[in-house]
Parts: sequence; C-alpha cells; structure tokens
Amino acid sequence: MANAIYTALPTTIFTVMSGLAREMGAINLGQGFPDEPGPLAIRQAAADAVINGNNQYPPMPGIPELREAVASHYARFQRLDLDWRTEVTVTSGATEALACAFLSLISPGDEVVLFQPMYDAYLPMVRRAGGVPRLASLQPPHWRFDRTMLEGVFSDRTRLVVLNNPLNPTATAFAADDLALLAEFCVRYDAIAICDEVWEQVVFGNTVHRPLMAFPGMRERTVKIGSAGKMFALTGWKVGFLCASPAITEVLAKAHQFLTFTTPPNLQSAVAWGLGNSDDWFTAMPADLAASRDRLAQGLTREGFVVIPSQATYFLNIDLPASGVTEGDMAFCLRAVKEAGVAGIPVSAFYETDPVTTVMRLCFAKRDETLDEGVRRLSRARDLVS
Ligand code: PMP
Ligand code: GLN
Repeated sequence: MANAIYTALPTTIFTVMSGLAREMGAINLGQGFPDEPGPLAIRQAAADAVINGNNQYPPMPGIPELREAVASHYARFQRLDLDWRTEVTVTSGATEALACAFLSLISPGDEVVLFQPMYDAYLPMVRRAGGVPRLASLQPPHWRFDRTMLEGVFSDRTRLVVLNNPLNPTATAFAADDLALLAEFCVRYDAIAICDEVWEQVVFGNTVHRPLMAFPGMRERTVKIGSAGKMFALTGWKVGFLCASPAITEVLAKAHQFLTFTTPPNLQSAVAWGLGNSDDWFTAMPADLAASRDRLAQGLTREGFVVIPSQATYFLNIDLPASGVTEGDMAFCLRAVKEAGVAGIPVSAFYETDPVTTVMRLCFAKRDETLDEGVRRLSRARDLVS
C-alpha cells in the first residue's frame, strides 16, 4: 500500500482552482502566475542557450556562472557575503530546495516549527521526512507572531523552523523586530531556519525584504531559498537556489544529488544572464505589479469589498465578512468560480488546524481588463450569496 501521508492528501488547492477555472472558462485570479510571458531578453537568452549552449548534464551543484551570479545578486541586494563555491546550490525550483532541506536536516522525531497560514507543500514534506510539526497560527490583518506564541512552539526538541518571508498568502513582509525575535529563539534552541524567500524581489513601496540569515547568530544556521521563477515572473521555469553555510550546503547537496541531480543547463545560464543584467527589471517589475495591486484594490473598494493591505507577493486578500459575504471562504470561492466565473484561493487551505475562513486570496499579476472583469464577477458572486 502507498504511504498513508500521501494517500490522505487532497490535490493542491492551486490545481483544483485552476482546473475549475479552465472547466468553467473563468477568469483565474487563483493560482499565482502572471498573464505576461516574462522578460523577452531572458527568454531569448534561454533560447540561445538551447541552440548554442550545453544540453548535457551540468555540474551537480549548478553551473558556476549561475552560482556566482546568485552570490553577487544577494551581496548587492541584501548585503549577504555568500561564497558561491561552498554556499550556493542550484535546484529545480524552490520546491526541490525545500525537499532537500527537509530530507537532509530532519531526523525522525525532530520538531519543526511552522507558521500557519503556510504554503501547502511544507507539511506533507516535513511529515514524510519524519518531522513532528509544531504549528503557530497567525491572524489577520497583521499576521504577526510574538514571544508568547514562539514560547508555545519551540522546545528542546526543535530542529527546524520554517519561515516564508514575504509570506504567501498574506502578502506581508516580516518586520525587523519580529525577525530579531525569531533569531533569538533559533539561537536559544539551537534550531536551523529554513527561509523560503521566493518573494524577496516582489515587495512594494517602502517595504524592505530582510533576510533572516543576516540577523545575529543566523549566518551559520539558516538555509535561504530563492526562486528565479518569482524573480523574473517566469513561474514555470523551476530554477531555485539553496544558500547556506558550507557544512549545511554539503548535506543539502547529498539530498539534491538524488532528487533531481541537476536543473536544465540552458535555463540556468539564462537566469545567470538575467541576474547580471536586470537592475532595471528589479525596479520596474514591482512598480508594475504595485499598479495592478492598486487597480484591483480600488475596483474592489468601489464595489464595497474590504481588502487587507498587500506589501508583497502577487496577492491581495479580501476580508469576506467585512465585505458583506456571509459564507465561508471555501464555499464562496467555489461559488465564485462555478457561478460567477472568477477563481480565487480560500486562505483556509493554508491551515492544518483552526483555519481562518474569512479571507479570499486574489492574484493581481494580470492585465487591467482581466482585473476589472474579475471585480465585476466577484461582485456578482457576492450578490448570489443568499
Ligand atoms: N514557496 C512559496 C511560498 C511559493 O509561493 C512558491 C510558488 N509560488 C514556491 C515555494 C515554489 O517555488 P518554485 O516554483 O520555484 O518551486
Ligand atoms: N505559488 C503559487 C501560488 O501560491 C502556486 C504554485 C503551485 O501551483 N504549486 O499561487
């Protein structure tokens, strides 16, 4: 018989909602991916690399050009001092990076601290690796943790803490004080932090992304995970990065070598080129997205919806009860996609226990017409709730 953790799993909410959106011909503001095809120059670099570059196995930890480009990107944008030779590994997306971290760092019975709402891949992977989850729950509209909450979940058995920052689905970035508090707990309990920072470049206005790795005591106990898919709005590319001290990198590589071994060389070289030539993009991309976020927020507000501020990611959340929606998030999302032709994601899907059922997540990385029509359809969906 198959493994019980997996037989009991539902299909991910992203696949369910995108499937329903296709079936119903609905506007898809659910799964997070942009409408636009992504930067042409980087796609051109990939095409050139397919025709003229190497198409055989690249080196297991990634091509040197990309590992160097990742280290120098993080030095420039986040003032980190990573040695590309011993501290950077290229993976097939952040998803593989997470799997490497969980498989190689968890021993059966180790406790793993996670914050709900959490990205849906974490928990099944942690459990399969033998980890015992200790869940802390964040609440809208601030979605913050505090000392009491951390005291409730950390223990002498804590091996890892998983932090997604900026946080999907809440669209928030953790403040420096909160990160310092978490760092204090990691040091006190000798825990390693797995930092899923795939949204690090998708932050708006005055919001600053702060890597936990840069906080006191964290340099040697952090695994920092990034994704070119999010950096360059090419979500299907699945080129991820694992950054950690040499001792941790060595064991992460042992997992990576038997998960995928390598990642397509042409995409790696295109991402390396992109990292070296994209300073304009890293300004323009968040500015364009912020304009889309504002358009969606304004449209929804005009229709009487109440939105929760979005500082980062592709997402804007609706406070359903405050918006006059009298049913739970899952029921409303199903109604919206089936009866009104617009898909969103119920935030309760990101909880294992005591879910927040009052918030719907919408992806605004879409063209203006799509967002405007999405607002009209959401309004219709609300009218349909009796
Ligand atoms: N972590 C988070 C928080 C995400 O939102 C996503 C996807 N958007 C991933 C991991 C997966 O990244 P990738 O596509 O690079 O595997
Ligand atoms: N990260 C994307 C989101 O949150 C979805 C990725 C996926 O479909 N697995 O929408």
